[in-house]
Amino acid sequence: SFSAVRHFSADAAHELRTPLTILKGEIELALRASQTEEAYQHVLRSCLEEVDRLSGLVNDLLFLARSDAGHLEREHTAVNLAEVLEDVRPALLALAEPKAVNCTITSPASVWVTGNTSMLFRLIFNLGENAIKYTPPRGRVEIRLSQQANAARLEVHDTGSGITAEDREQVFERFYRTDSARTRGGSGLGLALVRSIVLLHNGQIWLDSEVGRGSCFLVVLPLDSEASTKDV
Ligand code: ADP
Repeated sequence: SFSAVRHFSADAAHELRTPLTILKGEIELALRASQTEEAYQHVLRSCLEEVDRLSGLVNDLLFLARSDAGHLEREHTAVNLAEVLEDVRPALLALAEPKAVNCTITSPASVWVTGNTSMLFRLIFNLGENAIKYTPPRGRVEIRLSQQANAARLEVHDTGSGITAEDREQVFERFYRTDSARTRGGSGLGLALVRSIVLLHNGQIWLDSEVGRGSCFLVVLPLDSEASTKDV
């Protein structure tokens, strides 16, 4: 575990250094000679994008560090996962539409779990975002929420690139990206966050995938028994 921590710090430093180097380069270039107002605006907009990326990365790192240390405030209440899915829907459709990926989301009216709404939003969004990102145009992404005897079941299917058996062992590790994914942006923290969130909700996650055919992520979370009985 010492070596894992060392790797994590080295990887984190590396991930943070790249956007910082880009920022520094752009600012230095802009300061070298006086520029038109449009040119300054262009530089500032591009710097802002890098700063947004950096702060997203720092937030994710902070979340993971806190969850490691058991320092996450566990504001757990009864949450209707079907409503969270409804809230995620527009964000996912906005990603799917320009890629012509057919994204369908199905769910009953309510599936109650005990948890944290913003973490659960992040969980569904990350899985959906990946499914869309790794599926070629005109492919299909299907997100299904259902309720079993005493569990909520969230399935995210895609007809994308699939994940090899070797990569399946590692995709939940922090900063792990498959070779084919390295050019597509992303920090490699998405699935590590998903796993942490699932564990914080006493759930389980499985990955089934076939290269060239697609992947399916299955998340099972315990139901909130009190809210579920009230609902019936
Ligand atoms: P990233 O920011 O690179 O998407 P993630 O932690 O979300 O990082 O995912 C880790 C790696 O797992 C990705 O780089 C990609 O190689 C692979 N991966 C994740 N989801 C899928 C998917 N639905 N289909 C194919 N590959 C995937």
